[in-house]
Amino acid sequence: MTSRQQLRARYPAILERASLSYGPGWDGLMEALCERLEFHADHNAMPPVQVTQAKEKFGELVVLYLGGDRYAGGLIDMAEALSAHVCELCGNAGALQEGPPFRTRCPEHVDTRLSDYLKKP
Ligand SMILES: [Zn+2]
Repeated sequence: MTSRQQLRARYPAILERASLSYGPGWDGLMEALCERLEFHADHNAMPPVQVTQAKEKFGELVVLYLGGDRYAGGLIDMAEALSAHVCELCGNAGALQEGPPFRTRCPEHVDTRLSDYLKKP
């Protein structure tokens, strides 16, 4: 099972209808985001959140969602902001490259496209 499938299995209510299109380096960010969204919905009366789409856009993570409240919006805003500091491919510390192409990469993956990274055995 990929970590993407594990993420969906762990947070079915949040991710049931979500389209997820970003590199594996951001799976940890999404994991932390879903954990916080679920925790606050369970313990602090925050309305449940459904992510409809999480994708890479201009080098950063963009999360579209339904439900939640201002707190959920803050969690999501922070996850999106952090993505500009995490390599989308490997999850190591990275930086947003001023494009085009706009992308967030660590020093090792500066010139690596997501499609080429995913092809590696
Ligand atoms: Zn990297």
